[in-house]
Amino acid sequence: MADKRKITTRADDFAQWYNDVIMRAELADYSPVRGCMVIRPRGYGIWELMQGVLDRMFKATGHQNAYFPLLIPESFIAKEAQHVEGFSPQVAVVTRAGGKELEEPLVIRPTSETIIYSMLSKWIQSYRDLPVLLNQWANIVRWEMRTRLFLRTTEFLWQEGHTAHATAEEAEAETIRMLGIYRQFMEEWMAMPVITGEKTESERFAGAVATYSCEAMMQDNKALQSGTSHFLGQNFARAFDTKFQTEDGKLEYVWSTSWGVSTRLIGGLIMTHSDDVGLVCPPRLAPTQVIIVPIWRNDEQKSLVTTAGEQIRARLDDVGVRVDIDLRDDMKPGAKYFEWEARGVPLRLEVGPRDVEGEQTIVARRTGGKEPVKLTNLESAVQTALVEIQATLFAAACARREARSVREITKAGLIDLMAGDGGFAYGGYCGDRECEVAIQQETKATVRVLPDEEYRSERAPETCVWCGKPSIAEAVWAKGY
Ligand SMILES: [Zn+2]
Repeated sequence: MADKRKITTRADDFAQWYNDVIMRAELADYSPVRGCMVIRPRGYGIWELMQGVLDRMFKATGHQNAYFPLLIPESFIAKEAQHVEGFSPQVAVVTRAGGKELEEPLVIRPTSETIIYSMLSKWIQSYRDLPVLLNQWANIVRWEMRTRLFLRTTEFLWQEGHTAHATAEEAEAETIRMLGIYRQFMEEWMAMPVITGEKTESERFAGAVATYSCEAMMQDNKALQSGTSHFLGQNFARAFDTKFQTEDGKLEYVWSTSWGVSTRLIGGLIMTHSDDVGLVCPPRLAPTQVIIVPIWRNDEQKSLVTTAGEQIRARLDDVGVRVDIDLRDDMKPGAKYFEWEARGVPLRLEVGPRDVEGEQTIVARRTGGKEPVKLTNLESAVQTALVEIQATLFAAACARREARSVREITKAGLIDLMAGDGGFAYGGYCGDRECEVAIQQETKATVRVLPDEEYRSERAPETCVWCGKPSIAEAVWAKGY
């Protein structure tokens, strides 16, 4: 029993630690189908909160939700040449249904550009119909050989935004705007700092003209691509003949974008904040923000502390705190603390007979520290603590990333860094695919992004870190998930 509950430490085996945290916090479990995942209520609760926030942000910027089918005619995927090349190894195809072979096989969506553009070509006639700003919350299937809970699973949940515009400039602005919304969500809600920038050609989404990404550093110093936004140019519009009549009566293809984040974000949240005790969940995305644990030794005390605990619960519930009370009588308080800590609940309120007498509760933070709080100050003390924990987690993640970032990296420095603990390495890049491949082969690091201006080093690099030829852009290298 003791061994089963123990979490492997991060220092011992980071990958095993990650799985242990998920299992102990009851976020997800393995499914009977290899590579698929069951998201349990405590994990789905985090996803629902993420969805709620992102959905409000999308709607506040003019997007509407729609839903397109899971099954796509196989011929659609083949219409955009790069798209089919990129996705065909991962596509699952339905060939038999209703007891017979299908005339045309159906693909289970690996992403929905093709079906959406086939519909947009029916709905868009004139410039007056533009822009179209759509989002869909859906599941998709991409056949994966090596899978990890939340990070890479054959089926996963995500949102995919799809927009169509009259001009390239408008579509490019939309691509950047949504990247900014992702960054804001990841930093302000997940307390997970990211670097934004453009991907190199080899890492581009299949069918895109440009792909932009948010990259976060996990506690093992690897990068997690946590959200992407694509400028698709007119590629899909041409493939699906999505045209519109301009103001002066000409026919033109629409310019489009797509952007997505997935349940992978939950993996990022876990690997950014959690510790060897279990999950640490930022308060703003914690399904349970406060757990109340009444402490008693006999029935008389039980009635006293339960009543006091219920009053606290009601008061916090009234001010919008997500709060629960643990009244199980087959478990000792210490065992309960242990369990709620592993589940990542930010605050624990202990209520014993003496606390009731003293009109107080003991407030313990998941991230360390414990203090008595007078019940007269209950609501404000709890709300302040939640805000402080959120800020502390973000500051700690920023500090950790900066400590593991190396500027003006040299070739020898890059080799050393990646052979050791890893991290984010900033240096010049000549733009040649050959250098990218050589670096990956020798160090296992890839270009995560060509960072946006605010992340770039003060002095622009002059030469490529690998070949010494002139640098065309600063790049950030890291090993990735
Ligand atoms: Zn080079």
